[in-house]
Amino acid sequence: MKHNNSNKLYKKGLKHLVGAVNSPVRAFASVGGNPLFIKKAKGSKITDVDGNTYIDFVLSYGPMILGHRHKKVQKAITKALKNGYTFGASTKNEIKLAKIVCDAFPSMDKVRFVNSGTEAVLSALRLARAYTGKDKIIKFSGCYHGHSDALLVAAGSGLATLSLPGSKGVPEGAVKNTLIANYNDLDSVKKHFEKHDDIAGVIIEPIAGNMGVVLPKDNFLKDLKVYLASKRALLIVDEVMTGFRSKFGGAQELLGVEADIICLGKVIGGGFPVGAYGARNEIMEMVSPLGEMYQAGTLSGNPIAMAAGIATLTELKKQNPYQQFEEVGGKLETILLESAKKHNVDITVNRFGSMINPFFTTTKVTNFEEAQQSDTKKFAIFFWEMIRNGIFLPPSQFEAWFLSSALSEKDMKKTAIAIDKAMEAVSKK
Ligand SMILES: *Cc1c(COP(=O)(O)O)cnc(C)c1O
Repeated sequence: MKHNNSNKLYKKGLKHLVGAVNSPVRAFASVGGNPLFIKKAKGSKITDVDGNTYIDFVLSYGPMILGHRHKKVQKAITKALKNGYTFGASTKNEIKLAKIVCDAFPSMDKVRFVNSGTEAVLSALRLARAYTGKDKIIKFSGCYHGHSDALLVAAGSGLATLSLPGSKGVPEGAVKNTLIANYNDLDSVKKHFEKHDDIAGVIIEPIAGNMGVVLPKDNFLKDLKVYLASKRALLIVDEVMTGFRSKFGGAQELLGVEADIICLGKVIGGGFPVGAYGARNEIMEMVSPLGEMYQAGTLSGNPIAMAAGIATLTELKKQNPYQQFEEVGGKLETILLESAKKHNVDITVNRFGSMINPFFTTTKVTNFEEAQQSDTKKFAIFFWEMIRNGIFLPPSQFEAWFLSSALSEKDMKKTAIAIDKAMEAVSKK
């Protein structure tokens, strides 16, 4: 398999782009070698600039849940393009997408669209502070909530991949109101409340996907919600990754928990830059122009992005692929475990619906510390052998693999063969 054109573009890209990428997770820092440059994608497959085609388990880190260029989405975008690209004024489709989203999340009466998950989360924190009149926020170690200053501590995959504790350029003042707790450990949350009386809320990935896939223990979220209510603090559920992916109504539908504030992104834009935050009326009425919390965006609710979002969510609801994801994910888990056993490789597989992650470790993975026990060198060998066998995975041990509803039986067979070869390669090193 040749990567000459990718390698050439990478060298060229280094001149005017930072590391030749526009998001560090796209660099191949932890697996070695140069990043691939992509030319196009269709359905379950993605093709690089050298003409190599791979089955895509990256799916742009989640958004492409229907696979690439689904014909209904393509049609909706083409139609929207004819009317113009952005107006700086409201359009009918914003109302339509808002209804689809609010219908999916019972605790959400109103929603505000923004342009990324990062923006959704930073606005949600501002809202939690505005509503409670308190300043401090608790986040969990290993959870990623975008790159806003206040949340770039103990922030999971991107930083973990590059072995960075946080980020330079984040002033102490920006994180002094951020407290860190351990995932799946309610006591670590309670400890903060015993010390501080100005905690506005807790932000969490309901199913963590940014330290690799890590599931919440039974009732962890429910207990957390009850505890927070007793402290008059808000539960901010970051469903940027899990919204419309773990279930149509997100992880909350599945876990039976209702958030006070919900953050969305990724799938909601169908491949275009859309994020959103929402809550019940009483909370959302704090937001400008109804209330005194300011938040704005020139391109927010962009008409092309709204069209893509509506088409994606409408098709997703119709397909209702969640049972299928569960089955395919289960199959993938079995394939990984059996192949690892055959080749004497230690792995732990965590999965949830359409998110799955093999960790190269012997221990169970229930939090960030345990995830970090994984052997990233083994992952790097595995990753490249998968590439050579036509499978595109996220280039990091700590990123979830995603399933799309376009994934076929044939794709799965090819994936199984690749996994077996990759495990064999790992066992030989
Ligand atoms: C991806 C992600 C974000 C950030 O979204 P961007 O669109 O990349 O800014 C925030 N939270 C979670 C849980 C995510 O997975």
